Amino acid sequence: MGDGGPPAELDAAVGAIALVDHHVHPALAAELSHGEFEELITESDRPVPPGTTRFDSQLGVAIRRWCGPVLGLPAAAPAQAYTERRRELGAAEVARRLLRAAGLAHLLIDTGYLRDGMLGLAAMAEVAGCGVAEVVRLESVAERAIVAGDGSAAGFAERFRATLWERTISACGVKSIAAYRFGLDLDPRPPAAAEVASAAGGWRRQIDAAGRPGPIRVTDPVLLRFLLWAGVDRGLPVQIHTGFGDPDVDLRRSDPLLLRGFCELTQERAVPLMLLHCYPYHRQAGYLAHAYPHVYLDVGLAINHVGARAAAVVAESLELAPFGQVLFSSDAWGPPELHYLGALLWRRATAGVLGSWVESGDWALADAVRVAGMIGARNARRVYRLS
Ligand SMILES: [Zn+2]
Repeated sequence: MGDGGPPAELDAAVGAIALVDHHVHPALAAELSHGEFEELITESDRPVPPGTTRFDSQLGVAIRRWCGPVLGLPAAAPAQAYTERRRELGAAEVARRLLRAAGLAHLLIDTGYLRDGMLGLAAMAEVAGCGVAEVVRLESVAERAIVAGDGSAAGFAERFRATLWERTISACGVKSIAAYRFGLDLDPRPPAAAEVASAAGGWRRQIDAAGRPGPIRVTDPVLLRFLLWAGVDRGLPVQIHTGFGDPDVDLRRSDPLLLRGFCELTQERAVPLMLLHCYPYHRQAGYLAHAYPHVYLDVGLAINHVGARAAAVVAESLELAPFGQVLFSSDAWGPPELHYLGALLWRRATAGVLGSWVESGDWALADAVRVAGMIGARNARRVYRLS
């Protein structure tokens, strides 16, 4: 103590939490060139500006600093040496080392956005040495249901609901990406059956006009509302993308405060609404969690991308939000560096923030240890009913 770090006892306790990562995607176990790796350590889907590198970012520095040693390199080895070492070890070994080092008990995996070379659910469990459960994307189920109707949108609503119930028999939650497809500035009320039928008809005509096989993304706000309400009817926790994400999302329209009406109308249903990511609106999300007993939040994704500033974001997520309504997530997608760093940076930030409150005399050590355990694992176990 006294060196500015968290009290050693708290540091050890937070380090020992077997984490439940409540929003995460599969890890990529494919060989990657330096350039391919660089493209996967940013949320931008645009080219790297000439004369610069994606490694010159908080995430890039964190990868060299913290993941290098897990792969047997000195801390902060140069970026080229890092990707060379990855290739030397092979993608499978890299995934095994990083996922094991994350200290995970359970991964709740969103399977709605995949690419070749990603590990399946059983492989994730085996490589990470932990439990896994699936979170099913509402939009993906709808995109299958609309094309399953032999050329017609008739019966779409019933088909969607039947498919959703069947797809989620062993799932632990559902997820909405309405923020990506339209924005969160949706009418919060459930749409009438006639509105849904008419919107599904319009979507089906779009698909036919495109004249190519496969669905067209669901973007109609009536349908997105229908999916959200079907998710509430299903009764599992409903994860909702808010805030930070790739440039496909209009950040202005992903402020969780836009969901206030939906929070209001769903409160009596008592289905947990899990606000994902939230940054830079995590204080707004904290307000909603403060106001509504069925609203929860995390600051996943941002923690990796803000790197050495993770403590600031974690501290801000623990202002208004009741501690029983804050969860850990990495939102890692692809490189297993993101799964590892999501856990490591969260542990460092949480131990640092809670530790500073213990040091200043504001908090008792026992409370800091207890709250870290709630956010790292116990809140997720309770809300998702994990064994
Ligand atoms: Zn995600």
